[in-house]
Amino acid sequence: MGGDQESYVFIRDPEYAWIPAIKTGNDDKKAFVKVPKYRDEQSILCDGGSGAKEWEEDSVPLKDYNKGVLPLQNVDGAGHLKPFPDMCQLTFLHEAGILYNLKYRHGKGLPYTRTGDIIIAVNPFQWFTDIYTEKVRNRYSRILVWEYDPDAGGGDPRDDVDPHVYETSSLCYTGLAFGGKDQSILVSGESGAGKTETVKIAMNHIASCQQGPNAGSMETSPILERVVRSNPLLEAFGNAKTVRNDNSSRFGKYIQLQFDMGTKAEQEFRSRDKATCTLAGSKCEAYLLEKNRISEHGPGERTYHIFYQIIAAKDKTTYWSKLAGTTNEQFMFVGEACTTTIEGMSDADHFANTVTTLGEVGVVDDQLMTLMQAIIMVLQMGNITFEPKAGDDDKSEVSSKKEFADLCELMCIDQNILEVCFTERTMKTRNETYKVPLNPKVAREATESFAKEIYSRAFLWLVRCINDATAAELNYKSGSMKDFGIIGLLDIFGFESFVRNRFEQLCINYCNEKLQAKFTEDIFRSVQLEYEKEGIPLDEISYDDNTDVLDLIEGKTGLLAMLNEECVRPKGEDQAFVTKALAANKKSPCLFANKTNRRGFGIHHYAGKVLYDAEGFVSANQETLPADLSEAASLSSNEILAKHMTNDSCTNFDNKKAAAAEPSRGAPRRAKSNLVSPTVWAKYKGQLASLMAMLKTTNSRYIRCIKPNKPKKPVLMQHVTTIEQLRCAGVVAAVTLSRSAFPNRMDNSVVRFKFWQMWDKEKFPSKGTKDMDQPVKLQHDCQALLACALAPLAENDPKTGKPVTIFCVGKT
Ligand code: ADP
Ligand code: MG
Repeated sequence: MGGDQESYVFIRDPEYAWIPAIKTGNDDKKAFVKVPKYRDEQSILCDGGSGAKEWEEDSVPLKDYNKGVLPLQNVDGAGHLKPFPDMCQLTFLHEAGILYNLKYRHGKGLPYTRTGDIIIAVNPFQWFTDIYTEKVRNRYSRILVWEYDPDAGGGDPRDDVDPHVYETSSLCYTGLAFGGKDQSILVSGESGAGKTETVKIAMNHIASCQQGPNAGSMETSPILERVVRSNPLLEAFGNAKTVRNDNSSRFGKYIQLQFDMGTKAEQEFRSRDKATCTLAGSKCEAYLLEKNRISEHGPGERTYHIFYQIIAAKDKTTYWSKLAGTTNEQFMFVGEACTTTIEGMSDADHFANTVTTLGEVGVVDDQLMTLMQAIIMVLQMGNITFEPKAGDDDKSEVSSKKEFADLCELMCIDQNILEVCFTERTMKTRNETYKVPLNPKVAREATESFAKEIYSRAFLWLVRCINDATAAELNYKSGSMKDFGIIGLLDIFGFESFVRNRFEQLCINYCNEKLQAKFTEDIFRSVQLEYEKEGIPLDEISYDDNTDVLDLIEGKTGLLAMLNEECVRPKGEDQAFVTKALAANKKSPCLFANKTNRRGFGIHHYAGKVLYDAEGFVSANQETLPADLSEAASLSSNEILAKHMTNDSCTNFDNKKAAAAEPSRGAPRRAKSNLVSPTVWAKYKGQLASLMAMLKTTNSRYIRCIKPNKPKKPVLMQHVTTIEQLRCAGVVAAVTLSRSAFPNRMDNSVVRFKFWQMWDKEKFPSKGTKDMDQPVKLQHDCQALLACALAPLAENDPKTGKPVTIFCVGKT
C-alpha cells in the first residue's frame, strides 16, 4: 500500500471482531489509523466511520497489519458503505465485508441477502408484513419461468428482485416443474435463528406457486390445508420453550412435498403452459427428538407444549377424570411454568387447536383418546416415587401409593405386576433367569426412561398418523403407484457447542458434519459452473473439506465403532470408551484428549473445537427398554404402548437400513436387559445415510439462518456471535473457496476502464485496438497486464501479503 495514501479498512478488534478504520499512513514499524471513538454494537457502521463523527488516532504494528487488516470495500469518498444484495458483488470477499454488508441490510429492514445461490436470512425478530404479501410473491414469479425460458426477458431475473426465501422456493418449483428434477431446500442455523419460520414461509410459497389445472385454486385445496396445518401439530408435541427460543423445535425434520407431475406424455413435453406440477401430498421424517426434556428442563424453560396444553384444557377430564382440578405444579415433569402463553396464545387455546388439527389428520375418537392418555401416563409417571423396601436400601417399593394406583388404572395394568416391573430387573444368562432388586434411585431412573420411551413412541406414532393423512400415495389409491416429484425441506438443528456437551450434541454435530460435506461439494460445483460461465479456465483449486472429522466419527475405528463396541461389552463404561477411542485414533488430527477430565475428549469440528463429556454415552447409546418394562407396556390396553413399545418397533424409520449400515458391529447384548437391537447411534447413522442418499437425488439449495443477537431484539446485530454463525454455516468457507482462485471481484466496466488506461500509459505492445466498449476477457495472455493494471486497486492478501488477483464479474 502506498505510504501516505488514505484508505478505508477494517481492523481486528477483540470486542467487535472487526471495526472500520481509516489508514492515514505508516512508518517502518507501524501503520497509523483512525478508528471510531465511541463504539457500541448498534452505532458502528461503515458510514464514514461508525455514525459517530468522532475519531481517535490509533496504530497497528506493521507485522500484524497484513494479518489483521482487511480492505473496506465500496465506500464512496465520504467513506459511506455501498451495500449489495449479493455478497458476490463485494469487491473484497472476506468476513468483515460480509458482516457489515449484512449488518447494513439488517438495520434497514432487509433480512435476506444472497451469496450466489445461497440465501442468508438474518432473523429480524419483528414481522415485516410487507415482504410476504401476494404482491411480493408475484415479483418472484418471473423466476418461475426463467430457467425454463431464458429468452423470457434476458439476464438473471434475480437481478431485479431483492434476495428472498421466495427466490429459493421459486427456483425449486421451476426446477421441478420445468426441469423435471427433484429439489431440496436445506435450512440451517442455530436455535432461534429462524429455521422453522423460514421453512414455513418457503412451504406456503411453494404450495402456492403451482400452475397447471388447479392454478389459483390452491388456497382452498384440502391437501395444502392439511400439509400446512400439520405443522403446528408437530410443534405442539415436538416444540418447547427454551431460553433461546420460545417455540423451539426439539427434533429435526425433513418434509417432502410431493407433486403430481402429470402423465408420461406431459412430462416429456414440458412447456411453460403445459408443465403439470401440482401438490399431491407430503411426507415428514423426524429425527432425534430430545428425550431428556421429558423428565427435566432448565430454569426459564419448559417441557413439551402438549403437557401444559392438556393441563390447561377446559375439557381435560374427557381424557382422564383424575385430571380434574390439577395444575402444572402438581406434576413433577412439568412444575411451575415460566409462561402460560406461547406466541400470544394461551396453552388452553392451543389445546383446542391441537385437537381440531388432530381431527384433520384423522386422529379422532379412540385414536385421540389413545394419544392423549399416553401423554397423561407420561405426566403421571413423573409423580411416581420410591423408597427402600423393608429398610433394605438395595430394594425399593413405590412410596407414592395413590399416584401409582391412579397410573395403573390409567394404563389398565395390575398394580402388583407394574410395581415388580418398576422395582426389579430380570436377568438372563445362558442357563438361568433370575430377578435383581433395584434400589430407589435406579427404580426412579427406570420409570423416567419408561416415560421418555412412551413419549417418543407417541411422537413417532403421531408423525405416522400425519403421514398417513398427507402422503400422496394414499390419495392415489386407485391408480398404479405413481412417481411423485419432490421438493424437500430440511429443518434441522445447527451445530452446537455448549459448556457441557453430551451424546446428544455429538449426534447433532455429526449430522452437521455430514451436511457440511455436502455443502462444500455443492459450493465447489457452483464455483466451477460460474467459472465456466465466465469462460475462465479453472486451475485446480484446493479447499478444506471435513473428511478427517467424518472419518474420525464414522470410520472403521472411529468414535461410533468404539462406542458400539463398548455397548456390547457386559460392563461397558464411558471412560473405557474414551480411552479406547483416543488410542485407536492417535493419528487423527481432529481428536484430542481433555487433560482435566479423563472422561472427556475434544473434536476439531469444521465449525470449531468442541469438548465432549462422555458421561452417559454408553447408556444414552443403548436406550433399549429393559424387557420387564417393554413387557409391562405390552400388557396395557393403550395401543401406543401395546403395539409400539417393543424394541424393534421404531416407526418412521427403517430398521433394516440401519442394520445394513452397521453390519459388522452387531447390536449390544447386555446381561442387564438381554435385548438385541441396534444402538441409538447406529439407528441414527442409518437414518442420516438415507437422508443423505435422498438429498443426493435432488438439486439442493441453501438458506443459512442467522440469529443476529442473543436477547432476540430487532435491529441489533452483535458482531462476534454473527461472525461465529457465518463460520459455522460455512458462509466464510464458501467465500474462501471462491477466494482461493480469484479473491477479488470487480465490475467489468471498471476493469475495462483501468485496462485501457494502462494500455495507453505503459505502451504495451498492441493487443488490438483501444476500444473502451470492448469487454475484457480474462485470458491467459493478458493476465500479466491486467494484474499490473489492477494492482493499485487490489489489496494484499492478508494471508500471504502478496497482491491478489481480481476476478471480474458482471455483464460484458
Ligand atoms: P429455529 O427454528 O431456528 O429455532 P424459529 O423459526 O422457531 O427458530 O424462530 C424463532 C423466532 O424468531 C420466531 O418465533 C419468531 O419470533 C422469530 N422469527 C423467525 N423468523 C422470522 C421472520 N422471518 N420474521 C420475523 N420474525 C421471525
Ligand atoms: Mg425450529
